[in-house]
Amino acid sequence: MSHRNSGEDLGPKKGGMQSGARAGGFHPEMSEDLLAQCMHCGLCLSVCPTYALTGLERSSPRGRIRLMKSVMDGTIPVAGTFEYEMNFCLDCQACQTACPAGVKYGELVESAREFIQVNKKGFKLKRLLLRTFFVGKSGLRAASALLRLYQKTGLEKIVIFMSGVFPIGILKRARLLPRLSDKFAIDILPEFVEPKVAARGGVAILTGCVMDAMFAEANLDTVDVLRENGWRVAIPHTQVCCGSVNGHAGDNVTARALAIRNIEVFEGTQADYYVVNSAGCSAFMKEYVKLLADNPQYSDRAKKFSGRVKEFSEFIYETGYRKPKSKIESTVTYHEACHLVHTQKISAQPREIVKDIAGDNYRELNESTWCCGSAGIYNIVHYDEAAELLDRKLENINRCDARTVIAGNPGCLAQIAAGAKNGRMDLEVIHLATALNRLYKSEK
Ligand code: SF4
Ligand code: SF4
Repeated sequence: MSHRNSGEDLGPKKGGMQSGARAGGFHPEMSEDLLAQCMHCGLCLSVCPTYALTGLERSSPRGRIRLMKSVMDGTIPVAGTFEYEMNFCLDCQACQTACPAGVKYGELVESAREFIQVNKKGFKLKRLLLRTFFVGKSGLRAASALLRLYQKTGLEKIVIFMSGVFPIGILKRARLLPRLSDKFAIDILPEFVEPKVAARGGVAILTGCVMDAMFAEANLDTVDVLRENGWRVAIPHTQVCCGSVNGHAGDNVTARALAIRNIEVFEGTQADYYVVNSAGCSAFMKEYVKLLADNPQYSDRAKKFSGRVKEFSEFIYETGYRKPKSKIESTVTYHEACHLVHTQKISAQPREIVKDIAGDNYRELNESTWCCGSAGIYNIVHYDEAAELLDRKLENINRCDARTVIAGNPGCLAQIAAGAKNGRMDLEVIHLATALNRLYKSEK
């Protein structure tokens, strides 16, 4: 990774939140003004999954905003309830969608997490682990190689068996791991591929970290669908993680360094659009403009970069895509990833495409926007609570009698697929690009 203006010098300032001036990070001023936007009406409570789980005011958006205010006022400490609740929040942003006052809850909770990281004393294990696996490629590649070995040697089967006997700690979490792809798509694809029909322009894609380790097929399908629709596709091999995993955990120093690297790399492709098939990544890349707003060297470039980012379904819906000649043969429903529907307000586009390719087999999912419990590493850290959210999602899927679930985020794909497998459900969970490309391929 380039260390030119790597972001180490751009880190958040200490003590801002307590002084009331600045928490550092995403929003330039996590100030009392921003918190004061909340009028405590409580309209967000009914959409909040953690409030539904606990029934505690402090686990609701309104309660968390009060906690933030109390920390700013210095009436409660950072460690304890405040720290717990900021991390217990899924950052699903359903409250942001529901809020009539336009409270930017996502920015508030992410700033609060950054504030916690900056002010935390002692060894920061979580930050170290996230930096190891989501900065550069060697950490993720080493972990993926080990996990593939673990799955191929049959060791996984033993662990899964043991988890049935002793459903504790790491053993029960082992059930969440999907089958890893044999190879990263970025290792299979060349840096540029030509369209299959008359060219309409050039796009570049982010292959991502989790997406490429676990769902490389979705990346290959994304490239195929784009080519099928006349796009020349760049797959820059020097791209890095979008920074969302670190950023959402409060490590914006790392997130900024990754954003700068991606800006440099993607600019080099000279693509018109940057198409991203993972909801969490596209949401975060659209926010580079805010992340680097205070950086004189990169703020303008970040603005242009974010303006070019398009989520996959958003892109093909808005630019137009060729309708496949056939429909999906099984019953299909659509799960809305939080960072797609709440953060990016992308809902109609993917749903319309799914309806189109499913035809009469489309089934509407009750509570389609309710979080599945994945939420980055939430399902590992808060396993039991995430499992309750997953059960609720699976129940709704069962009720609509779908045999295929389409989703646009690797975390959701993995979480719902794990729930279906563990519950022995007859259910396939796939990315929209895969669903579409299967239909295109069937025409050949
Ligand atoms: S809906 Fe908005 S204004 Fe009302 S309590 Fe929730 S965050 Fe505050
Ligand atoms: S982001 Fe989600 S979990 Fe967090 S307070 Fe808002 S609705 Fe609740």
